[in-house]
Amino acid sequence: MSVPITKILCPENKFNIKCPYSMKPQGITIHNTANDASAKAEISYMIGNNNEVSFHDAVDDYRIVRGIEHNRNAWHAGDSATGFGNRNTIGIEICYSLSGGDRFIKAEKLAAKYIAYLMKQYGWGLDRIDDKRIGTHQDRSGKYCPHRTLDMGINRFYEMIKQEYYKLTGTNSNTAEIYRVQTGAFFNKENADKLALELNTKGIDTYRVKIDDLYKVQCGAYLNKQNAINMSNKLKLMGYSNFIPGLNLSVEGEKQKGTKYKINCDYPNIRSQASLSSSVTRLATKGEIIYVTCIVNGFLKLSDGTYLKVGFADKI
Ligand SMILES: [Zn+2]
Repeated sequence: MSVPITKILCPENKFNIKCPYSMKPQGITIHNTANDASAKAEISYMIGNNNEVSFHDAVDDYRIVRGIEHNRNAWHAGDSATGFGNRNTIGIEICYSLSGGDRFIKAEKLAAKYIAYLMKQYGWGLDRIDDKRIGTHQDRSGKYCPHRTLDMGINRFYEMIKQEYYKLTGTNSNTAEIYRVQTGAFFNKENADKLALELNTKGIDTYRVKIDDLYKVQCGAYLNKQNAINMSNKLKLMGYSNFIPGLNLSVEGEKQKGTKYKINCDYPNIRSQASLSSSVTRLATKGEIIYVTCIVNGFLKLSDGTYLKVGFADKI
């Protein structure tokens, strides 16, 4: 790699605090520092304190600094002492995310290059990005980290890693088979945006591309065929027809199952669980038709697996 790795390693007498377990890495967890310190300063600070908080590498605009070798675990993922992130992944901090700007842009670029380098070193394929073994702190435990990378678009960052990976491994994005799952194609941009937003509020990441005058809404680009088919099935169960051009596979959205109800008030909360303390996945609209499969704990269970408090919709 053209950029050498500077090592400022955690001393062995602190292994019990910072990296108590041996590790054979299975993936990577991506972080932003939420700070404006350099990679050297981040690693020095991490090693210098006695908190059970640690990570392997910090990357800034021109330097990669390692604090913990990759054959030991580190405490960065917030997914418990036995969690996949904390016990099986390399924790990488991208510097200068607090203020952003040019230094952060460069740090992200170097981090993408470095992650591709590690993937090649360990013989990992791009499927590890699809299945989130290479993922974010957010994937591990829900924390909004890497905050600025997420704000700027995580798929954009994964695409940067992929491009670096193609360069390093001699494959390229045109020859590698990529399976894209497409849910809609529209002449009108607003309609594409509307569908994309609707899918986003239901927890599906989308991106919009314009091809041949059509605005297409895609839900992922996969190197692993099975991962593409899994997404297709998920969309089908949610009622969305979809198409995978690479497989010439066209899937009809499943007919809505359940009893028809109509929302009777303005914007009631649709929740992830049958509990008022669970997260709100979207707001329903007065007059909207929903399909109810059963009633659980005072909540109507909708056909897509979400919940609405009894009383906000009437059977029709
Ligand atoms: Zn983090």
